[in-house]
Amino acid sequence: MILLIAIDFRGDIDYLRDQIGTRFHSKVDVSINGLDPKPFLNPDRNQFNSTSIIQRLEKDAPSTASKVLAVTSLDLYIPILTFVFGEARLNGQCAVVSSYRLDNRSYGLPDNPSLLQERLLKESIHELGHTFGLIHCQNPDCVMKSSTYVEEIDFKSSRFCLACMDSCATALSRLK
Ligand SMILES: [Zn+2]
Ligand SMILES: [Zn+2]
Repeated sequence: MILLIAIDFRGDIDYLRDQIGTRFHSKVDVSINGLDPKPFLNPDRNQFNSTSIIQRLEKDAPSTASKVLAVTSLDLYIPILTFVFGEARLNGQCAVVSSYRLDNRSYGLPDNPSLLQERLLKESIHELGHTFGLIHCQNPDCVMKSSTYVEEIDFKSSRFCLACMDSCATALSRLK
């Protein structure tokens, strides 16, 4: 089972649940507001530390969940970067993803809910891919291609390339 934990998330969690369940051939459970983000706020930056969130998730994650993905609309950072779209423990159990920097409105552009949803799905699959041991891929269409800017997310697909799909299927089969 993959557990989705919504933390101050204002998007459509049911869409994510359905898509992730299909892509990873897994049962997906949803926990709404399953974690208080306040301890992870850096008041100087007005952002939330994604590494600390992952550490907390790892402490609290139920053993019944093979993977845990926290989904939030809060702005995430790691100390060496201005922001992150998400973060994952490579080959681990937990990951976090944020819609904040995926939202056109964060760039002064008109709201585009379907584009936002598609970007969030890509980054959710990308971070979950890391938890299945996948590293960044050079294939321009592959969802495991790394993205620094939101435009780069739009260039790639939400799919794994064949090589990444293969690695992910192997990792999934080890869970069952
Ligand atoms: Zn990545
Ligand atoms: Zn790939």
